[in-house]
Amino acid sequence: MRHPLIAGNWKMHGLRAHAQRLAAEVASGVPAPQAVEVAICPPFVHLADAAASLAGSAVALGAQNVAPEAEGAHTGEVSAAMLADVGCRFVIVGHSERRQHYGDDDALVARRFRQAREAGLVPILCVGETLAEREADATATVVARQVDAVFAAVGANGFGDAVIAYEPVWAIGTGRTATPEQAQTVHAALRDRLAGHLGEAAAGVRLLYGGSMKPDNAAALLSMPDVDGGLIGGASLKAEDFLAICRAA
Ligand code: 13P
Repeated sequence: MRHPLIAGNWKMHGLRAHAQRLAAEVASGVPAPQAVEVAICPPFVHLADAAASLAGSAVALGAQNVAPEAEGAHTGEVSAAMLADVGCRFVIVGHSERRQHYGDDDALVARRFRQAREAGLVPILCVGETLAEREADATATVVARQVDAVFAAVGANGFGDAVIAYEPVWAIGTGRTATPEQAQTVHAALRDRLAGHLGEAAAGVRLLYGGSMKPDNAAALLSMPDVDGGLIGGASLKAEDFLAICRAA
């Protein structure tokens, strides 16, 4: 069975004191392993503080991005080995905000994914269509292309225990959530696509939904057979809301 995962993507929010407090509050809400795995992904500069706040709890740490190279003269970048060393288990790759605003195309995302895997991190690969793509009936084609690009770079053996997050761009930060049925349809298509690459192992891949997931809509989304968790933006910035979503999973 797939172990559900709820991951909080804090994006570029909060100063140090906020990060320490929020991580500690989440940690105290998840003191021991649960039926649901819980992770938080603070900004790079808060990772070490968050790791200290999470020590002894069952909450895992993740980062929001990773360099596409292993090390070297890459000013401003943070390597996968550095993330693993500071205590990260997960790293988000290919978030739509990076694809839209920072030039993360499929090839670059695949290089980030490869670095994450080589350092032993679990990539959370984000895929999803824009509103124009959905309206053009291109959702399945777009997410398949985004997944295929990673397999083209790392092969079936390189996928490992990676997680995929389906995040429709039109649902991110907009308050407009995919319906549970819309999410399930895309997740089922993704699992089909994964089966083409991984065969039976596709049944074990965790597929998260992200996009305006909140305490009041989480249970319905998470009840879908192929929705194995959530990647939470805005609602992960308040421990009470984030923990309510964790309980709904
Ligand atoms: P919101 O939950 O704020 O819509 O953000 C979703 C997201 O982008 C998580 O990565």
